[in-house]
Amino acid sequence: MINRLNIRQMTEEREKGLSPHAVKSRLSRGRLRPEEPCPVRTTFQRDRDRIIHSKAFRRLKHKTQVFIAPQGDHYVTRLTHTLEVSQIARTISRALNLNEDLTEAIALGHDLGHTPFGHVGEDVLNEVYHQGFRHNEQSLRVVDLLENDGKGLNLTWEVRDGIVNHAKTRIEVLGRDWGEVNTVEGEVCKLSDIVAYINHDTDDAIRAGIITEDDLPLSAIAVLGRSRSQRINTMVCDIIECSWAVRGDAVMASPAIAMSPEIVEATNALREFLFDRVYNLRATVKEAERARTVIRLLYKYFNEHKDGLPPEYHFYSNGIEQRVVDYIAGMTDQYAIRTAEKLPDKVKVA
Ligand code: MG
Repeated sequence: MINRLNIRQMTEEREKGLSPHAVKSRLSRGRLRPEEPCPVRTTFQRDRDRIIHSKAFRRLKHKTQVFIAPQGDHYVTRLTHTLEVSQIARTISRALNLNEDLTEAIALGHDLGHTPFGHVGEDVLNEVYHQGFRHNEQSLRVVDLLENDGKGLNLTWEVRDGIVNHAKTRIEVLGRDWGEVNTVEGEVCKLSDIVAYINHDTDDAIRAGIITEDDLPLSAIAVLGRSRSQRINTMVCDIIECSWAVRGDAVMASPAIAMSPEIVEATNALREFLFDRVYNLRATVKEAERARTVIRLLYKYFNEHKDGLPPEYHFYSNGIEQRVVDYIAGMTDQYAIRTAEKLPDKVKVA
């Protein structure tokens, strides 16, 4: 019955009404290994579902965003961050008549390669591993190779591109440095990631007592709003308005996802404030030091004791260091701490 109706083809037909700048699932550049299409879901919907059912996605629940293994129930984790990015990106995508399914798949997959202990974990792995470590590249490794017992999720080119090119350094919100994303949907996710973390990290920093609402830069708050929901709303509406040409109602060669100069300035000010007052503080707090020690210890130990690695990690790479990085990057905060505690005493002292 399902085959006769072919629901997927009906959805693909509907996608013809999307913006001329949207990616149509039928025109995807395809998967690393070709597969029979699903009778019900488009290729991007299928990618989204594969990500949701992956083990790496479940582990996001126990990975730190900024505050390491916090006691409170209301702190953001990698999982809730991911869901917030997805919500914001889908809202923008739908408003701009883009492919919401592609947007959702990229957003849900973007942080799958994140280490335990947030950016502290990422920084340490980057220091110790001679080839360097970036969470966005690891996210691609997860979906291409590590998930599904070493077979990977075999996602489409567009979702993989959005995942590997989502990240950037401390440069301004519209700046580019860690790779260009090649779809408008990917652009939406890249900006939505920033909108999400600026706002929930501000909230969490206040919750943790690191800053108070009165510390927030007045110039930014005056433009963006006093509450978290006001600020998200201001940013999202501004992005939609400034990116309206992406809908394709008027002819324009390659319109971009954009923000107005006023909102960009206020957003940059708030982000810089977070870097100075919240993110860089991580290096000094006790939990961050403990997290650094745990990662360094695990890295050293497993490089010297490769038989201690779970057997499946031996298939993923020929290099022992890469195997150790794959293993550690996949750990949740608590798993990393438990594993380090179980190491022989003489290793821990050293
Ligand atoms: Mg993110």
